[in-house]
Amino acid sequence: MYKTGARITSVVSALAMGLLFSLLPTAAVAKKLIVVTATTDLAALAQEVGGDHINVESIAKGYQDPHFVEAKPSFLLKLRQADMLITVGLQLEIGWLPPLITQSGNPRIQVGGSGYLDASQFAEILEIPTGVVTRAMGDVHPLGNPHYWLDPDNGRRVARGIAEKFGELDPPDAVYFQQRFQDFDKRLSAAEQKWDAEMAPYRGRKIVTYHNSITNFAKHFHLEVIGYVEPRPGIPPTPSHTFDLIGLMKRENCKLVLVEPYFDLKTPNSIGAATGAKVQVYLPSVGGEKQVTNYFELFDYDIALLTKAFE
Ligand SMILES: [Zn+2]
Repeated sequence: MYKTGARITSVVSALAMGLLFSLLPTAAVAKKLIVVTATTDLAALAQEVGGDHINVESIAKGYQDPHFVEAKPSFLLKLRQADMLITVGLQLEIGWLPPLITQSGNPRIQVGGSGYLDASQFAEILEIPTGVVTRAMGDVHPLGNPHYWLDPDNGRRVARGIAEKFGELDPPDAVYFQQRFQDFDKRLSAAEQKWDAEMAPYRGRKIVTYHNSITNFAKHFHLEVIGYVEPRPGIPPTPSHTFDLIGLMKRENCKLVLVEPYFDLKTPNSIGAATGAKVQVYLPSVGGEKQVTNYFELFDYDIALLTKAFE
């Protein structure tokens, strides 16, 4: 009895919803894909190809460590309504995203669901371990380096993958998304020429970073990362590692330490004092500073910062 009653109620409410939608003006129901991304960089790339045919929002803020995000409960509601969830993958979000996905109860965005997209499948992944690496050892990069978005070529690959997925979920707009991607590709190629030229005088420069989140950037722009403030990805600095790193930097004449905005500057500053290296906070993500609002501005910001530091 109860079951039948519930079914009747849901049929009635579905009819009521249908009636409601048919009464709304066309513009109000013009369907936009609701897209949630794990990080701001993916949101920026999704926005480039999605234009005004999507609504996109990132769970992590650009100034947060993407390995450790405390998501606001309000995001559960957004995930519940989302047509699509785009993740960085390679276990970057394993510490915080899986419970949100489960609790959302939204079948579309479950792993393997029609709206779930792991963007790492499109990117060139560096530092894929050859031996056995587990998170039990404290390593937060067990499947390779997940900070792949800081290479414009990976940005292009990911944007292409996202545009294709948008087209699958929203076939009438597939051509629109493809055109947006072509336009992004053109603008990115032009920007890359400028960035490459700006960085060309500093090819081969040696740097140290706190976490290994600049690996793809360093490869693209031919910088040499000789070491990290962390002894292993995700493991805080230790006195013995810091001592060894200072020795290495002196031998290699390394004069720059880059630090992600969410790390303590105490150890980097002591390394700087011991080696004479500059200590510079750089931005791994869009939104790390207010003025960095899109994918292009992220590279503009970091390249300006680096060229100034190298001068
Ligand atoms: Zn990492």
